[in-house]
Amino acid sequence: MKPMIAIESLVRENIRNMKPYSSARNEFSGTADIYLDANENPYQTGYNRYPDPDQRLLKEKISELIDAQPDQLFLGNGSDEAIDLLIRAFCEPGKDSILITEPTYGMYSVCAEINGVPIKKASLTGDFELNANDVLSNINESTKLVFLCSPNNPSGNLLNQDEVLKVIRGFNGLVIIDEAYIDFTNDKGFVQYLTAYPNLVILRTFSKAWGLAGLRLGIAIASKEIIRVLTKIKYPYNVNSVTQHLALDALQNEKLKNEWVTEIIKERESLKMELQKLSSVVEVFPSSANFLLVKFLDSSFVFSTLIKKKIIVRDRSNVQLCNGCLRITVGTPNENKILLEALNQL
Ligand SMILES: *Cc1c(COP(=O)(O)O)cnc(C)c1O
Repeated sequence: MKPMIAIESLVRENIRNMKPYSSARNEFSGTADIYLDANENPYQTGYNRYPDPDQRLLKEKISELIDAQPDQLFLGNGSDEAIDLLIRAFCEPGKDSILITEPTYGMYSVCAEINGVPIKKASLTGDFELNANDVLSNINESTKLVFLCSPNNPSGNLLNQDEVLKVIRGFNGLVIIDEAYIDFTNDKGFVQYLTAYPNLVILRTFSKAWGLAGLRLGIAIASKEIIRVLTKIKYPYNVNSVTQHLALDALQNEKLKNEWVTEIIKERESLKMELQKLSSVVEVFPSSANFLLVKFLDSSFVFSTLIKKKIIVRDRSNVQLCNGCLRITVGTPNENKILLEALNQL
């Protein structure tokens, strides 16, 4: 355990002092026969009513799946919304900074830049491992948020748990751990540490294992103090009715998600084995996600040849520590077979 951090004292002053918008559905959240409070069209279209601004049913269902209470959950328009709101709530533009560990997911720095928030960069080690001492030595009084990603995008590896805990213990701002790919590992991730460390925020998403990228639904899991801040500044109806309904449907069928995950992991391992046999491949990095980072002798030739064959992978060759690397998402068995045939013909 570490001494309590007063979350309120980390929040930007204007956010701390503001009064949030209160919608019609916030002010009356029970059930009634006649709703004349929100200027909706009374005729049924299926969508003539505003959605639940607090997503109560959905949060309850999600809390049964994740070891957290409904009031420890924030739901947003993708995890991208949570990333943006964390920066806007805690970082004074031009003054406070965030820290990222390269190579990592691009949205942390994009959201910081949009908000005029300076970005400090630490580097992962050569094998994409977290060096806690290096991260902590790059932090100063202006640093409010540290973003970690585990399994990391684009490298695919889980970060070492002890190193992550060392960052959490050694830093007095918020540590955000993006677990978008956690379903593809047996690792439990960091939700189990939320009680011990109130400065921890975990991000999850419906975009990857759940197969619902098109719905846009992301989750932030944290202490209820942090969740209250994010909820205070979100758009009132940030998660639409269709998303709420379809996510509830998906949660009824967790088994299907687990079957996809099992299949994708199996395919990942056989794709990795086949890729390692190719003479064009230098290295396939270990992955705990649904993609492989692959270093090629000539990645730009491979990339453009695949495009000609109408196969698109992600060029990461200009990213730190990823020289010569392409990131390849694991597809269906048939898609992976076609990819391997194309690579064999190089
Ligand atoms: C794909 C991905 C996400 C998902 O973002 P959404 O906005 O929820 O679709 C989040 N973090 C990382 C690292 C990702 O790769």
